[in-house]
Amino acid sequence: MIEVDTVLLKVASRCNIDCRYCYVFNMGDTGWSRGPKQMSRQTCQATAAALTRLVHEQGRPFAVVLHGGEPLLLGAANLSHVILTLREALPAECAISIQTNGILINEAILDLCASTFVTLSLSLDGPRHVHDRNRVGFAGEGTFDRVIEGLGRLRSHPDAEFLFTGVLAVIDPESDPRELYTFFKDLRPPSVDFIYRDGNHSRLPEGKVSSSTTEYGQWMAALLDIYLADESPMRIRILDDMIKLVLGGVGSKDGVGLTNYGVLIVDTDGSVTKNDTLKSSFDGADRFLEPWSVHTHRLSDILRSAEFAAYHAMQRPSSPTCLACPELGVCGGGMTLHRWRDGGGYDNPSVYCEDQKLLIGCIREKVASLSAVT
Ligand code: SF4
Repeated sequence: MIEVDTVLLKVASRCNIDCRYCYVFNMGDTGWSRGPKQMSRQTCQATAAALTRLVHEQGRPFAVVLHGGEPLLLGAANLSHVILTLREALPAECAISIQTNGILINEAILDLCASTFVTLSLSLDGPRHVHDRNRVGFAGEGTFDRVIEGLGRLRSHPDAEFLFTGVLAVIDPESDPRELYTFFKDLRPPSVDFIYRDGNHSRLPEGKVSSSTTEYGQWMAALLDIYLADESPMRIRILDDMIKLVLGGVGSKDGVGLTNYGVLIVDTDGSVTKNDTLKSSFDGADRFLEPWSVHTHRLSDILRSAEFAAYHAMQRPSSPTCLACPELGVCGGGMTLHRWRDGGGYDNPSVYCEDQKLLIGCIREKVASLSAVT
């Protein structure tokens, strides 16, 4: 049976803002409009029961991430029901966290999270002029001020040090890496994770002229220089992972390296889906053929099925170019969604292949020069 490391619980299918690059709402998939707006209490209880059985069957805890849409749209009362149901059902070793845009953070939610040991990670792309290019409301207005206000409420909570685990930022290759680095460092987050924008060979990520250009790789390489020159750097998860992989270690998250991660996604109606980032490939790409649901199926049966095994194997690249690539162990072929091409499926190198090669080359050079000095 495939072991699960992370369960993404889609507790809300809608969002309170309308980010231009959002794969859930703005990249062609319409699945969000068919499901319930929020996970019902009945589905939440069925999910908790299914997860309890799974944690016993696999004999190993997993992390649960409350995801959306925007999970805080549930409000404190419904969120409390979800969290208390999960906390009651799962062993304490199962970490629970929330990925939020931060705007709806309030005292009641923070007190709830503090009392139930639930952490929060915020999506914030950088200073106002960078963040507001894409992270906008339904009238196209920037959301920077509202996110910073939410972050301020989080930071001023007495348990902020435990509650706040970090920031997730989508890279804008037109931004200035030094300005971004200084901005985030001044915010003092425990960690920042920079991620490539969604896109593929048929719908290029914004900011990439073609799959042979290296806009994102150059941006990341500039960030690497700033990071390594800083005597007291903030934590940047993706760079730490790639440096570890270059040195022969292992990463901590999917997207780089060759570790297979077991990610299970439960939608607001209780259905079990593929990773929702695949929605950027085509409408319905995140759906299994089998109508799996926590209401009707045992999770361990799903995890033992051929269809789930085939989906799990998609994490590893299948393209001959990747399989022969000297950087496969560090790059890992990138995220599955970035390999998509209409008519050719996922059997391609990442659309970020050249960016990855450039960045890995820079990391190798830096590591070699540091080893020569010591
Ligand atoms: S995406 Fe490119 S760099 Fe990454 S493993 Fe494949 S060929 Fe190598």
